[in-house]
Formats: sequence, structure tokens, C-alpha cells
Amino acid sequence: MPEIAARTVAASDTTTADPDRWCWPRGMAMSGQEIDTFTARLVRFTGKGLTLADAEQQADRLTARDREGDDRRLCLECAHLQGIGPWGCGNWRKADVCMRGSDAALARDLVLMLQRCDGFKTTTP
Ligand code: SF4
Repeated sequence: MPEIAARTVAASDTTTADPDRWCWPRGMAMSGQEIDTFTARLVRFTGKGLTLADAEQQADRLTARDREGDDRRLCLECAHLQGIGPWGCGNWRKADVCMRGSDAALARDLVLMLQRCDGFKTTTP
């Protein structure tokens, strides 16, 4: 009888040991870390003026990007992004995105485009 109990406990431990065991990369479900990152991005992106639906779409894109190992970034992830839509770039000289000063406006299409920018500085996450 104690042997059966021991086997039951062992089986139970196996099923609860790793809550991410069937998540990416073993499955398509998001891991706990990916969900945390997704949620932080929603907060960041809605704080920068995107609707919740648009923020979710961008966060989904970034989850796929991260999984693919793509090193491109969105301006929405950059510490130099200014404003809440309309947006501006606080590092426009290094980024080489426009000829004006600190009010350097960024088009929505550029802000939402995956790119490699010399002026990029990451925010969390
Ligand atoms: S520095 Fe580059 S990535 Fe950052 S806001 Fe300006 S253009 Fe976008």
C-alpha cells in the first residue's frame, strides 16, 4: 500500500513540476515568461497611445519575432520614443530619421515597422 501511495505522489509531482512543460518551444502556447512579457508590452503600448486591440496585435507580432530570433525592433520598444501618438524621436540624429530637432515627428507606419535603428535603446521588456 505505501508503494502505491509513493507512486501516486511521484506522478503528481511530475504533472505539477513545470507549468510551462507543454509551452513554447515544445508547443505553441505561451510560457509564463512570454505571458509576462506580453502583458508588459500591452501596458507599454497602450501607454504610448495604441488602442488595446492594436497593442495586442503588436504584442502578438513581437512574440512571433522573439520566437524566430529576429533582431529587429519597434520604435514602441525604444526609450527614445516620445509622445503618445503622434510620436517623436528623442534620438533623431543617431537614428537618422529626420532633419528637425527635438520635435522630430515619426510617422505611425515607421513606429509600427520592425527595423534596425542605430539610435535604438531598449525599454523593459
Ligand atoms: S531612436 Fe530609432 S528606434 Fe528609437 S524612437 Fe528613434 S527612430 Fe525609433
